[in-house]
Amino acid sequence: MAIPIPSRQLFIDGDWREPVKKNRIPVINPATEHVIGDIPAATAEDVDIAVEAAHRALKRNGGKDWASASGAHRAKYLRAIASKILERKSELAKLEAIDCGKPLEEAAWDMDDVAGCFEYNADLAEKLDKKQNASVSLPMDTFKCHLIREPIGVVGLITPWNYPLLMATWKVAPALAAGCAAILKPSELASLTCLELGEICREVGLPPGVLNILTGLGPEAGASLASHPDVDKIAFTGSSATGSKVMTAAAQNVKPVTLELGGKSPIVIFEDVDIDKAVEWTLFGCFWTNGQICSATSRLLVHESIAGEFVDKLVKWAKNIKISDPLEEGCRLGPIVSGSQYEKVLKFVSTAKSEGATVLYGGERPLHLEKGFYIEPAIITNVTRSMQIWKEEVFGPVLCVNIFATEEEAIELANDTHYGLAAAVISNDLERCDRVTKALDVGVVWVNCSQPCFSQAPWGGKKRSGFGRELGEWGLENYQNVKQVTRYISDEAWGWYNPPSHKL
Ligand code: NAD
Repeated sequence: MAIPIPSRQLFIDGDWREPVKKNRIPVINPATEHVIGDIPAATAEDVDIAVEAAHRALKRNGGKDWASASGAHRAKYLRAIASKILERKSELAKLEAIDCGKPLEEAAWDMDDVAGCFEYNADLAEKLDKKQNASVSLPMDTFKCHLIREPIGVVGLITPWNYPLLMATWKVAPALAAGCAAILKPSELASLTCLELGEICREVGLPPGVLNILTGLGPEAGASLASHPDVDKIAFTGSSATGSKVMTAAAQNVKPVTLELGGKSPIVIFEDVDIDKAVEWTLFGCFWTNGQICSATSRLLVHESIAGEFVDKLVKWAKNIKISDPLEEGCRLGPIVSGSQYEKVLKFVSTAKSEGATVLYGGERPLHLEKGFYIEPAIITNVTRSMQIWKEEVFGPVLCVNIFATEEEAIELANDTHYGLAAAVISNDLERCDRVTKALDVGVVWVNCSQPCFSQAPWGGKKRSGFGRELGEWGLENYQNVKQVTRYISDEAWGWYNPPSHKL
């Protein structure tokens, strides 16, 4: 049954508004390759209008503006958004699935996480009221110091297509909780659920201009937002190449940025593991969300003593992963998000072959699916450290395998990358897990699992995976300035201008 695609405009100043240039971008279902709708394409002119609306929402002239309202006041809106998301969960999950190809079951989990993230940030917003005016102890008793936490202002939020609504929420929820006004620019490849967030904001009566949603092309709408002189901060999630451009654009106005970028994360399997459990974590860690996860543990490092049995099982199990239309029950691997991304993934596999690697399984279109951007999960061995497949992020269902003999070698191989987002360590020896965890040059380590992620815990990487942390209290602090207020409390004159030996 066809899923109705709402026809939306840009969400600016609390309502729908046609883009100034009236352009639209087609929406393609990656499972069928059919055009199923379109979204508005914002340009620099629309960004200007949205930035003005956001500033109006924050006008600091007293009264009930968003920035100076209490955290408890803002929390009510975040909770109302969370409950609307849950009310519309099944419809939103379907939209997500047909927009980016994510299996429906996973899209439904995402909607729970979206609601949970809004609720968690509502709790944080309430706690902010208590955190205000915290005192700082000073070494001189003639001074008293306290801190005021202020929203950073108008923020630009630029997000990718792999978790369209969830990645947007990781930014929108803390930004709004902190008292910022935001302009969200979702990926042009999957914007449908982010536009529905606009409708939800309208329904819950979020004050106009607090959240503006501009769909559009990256080099046009995204670049205008990143370089806008009246935007106070940019939070970006996407590829390292685009992240670098965003940072350059933001630097023109010396605006702070947080960057959540790509990865090439390792999963290290020691010889003492339960092989079946470790095989499942390896498959899940690399092929979940169709392999399009920033933190995909796409470099398997397995101890030489179990490598043969481990890889045989991996291949056997990978062959049983259900590849189908994301809406089909039991689907575990849907299509790649777009035709160009599909071609890119296939090229990675063919380059690996031409460089001398062995594709044990997958990396091709499944025979039973003639249409759609589907690729069988690929398992590649005989990978050397000079090969492209070892070094570069594929962002598709491709796992490359390497073998180690010692703990030191495993750590060296794991850290042999420009990226530093995440890593997984699987071993029954917890002391060894602790040692390896400390030696890994990444922002997130999973022990005896891969990929769990919670609104309460900080998320972010090192090296070319970016900097800054989202989620948890750290995520909200990204959207605040801390103002130091120091008061002189002595009755005595300070005594610098008129020392006792020098009378006027
Ligand atoms: P992308 O870099 O192509 O696009 C990301 C966003 O940037 C999109 O909204 C796009 O329109 C916009 N954009 C493109 N060019 C721009 C420009 N010149 N100026 C401003 N904005 C611009 O990334 P993608 O293909 O959408 O997403 C995949 C990438 O995202 C992968 O590298 C993945 O690892 C990364 N990612 C990282 C995390 C994380 O938490 N670290 C999470 C999800 C995805």
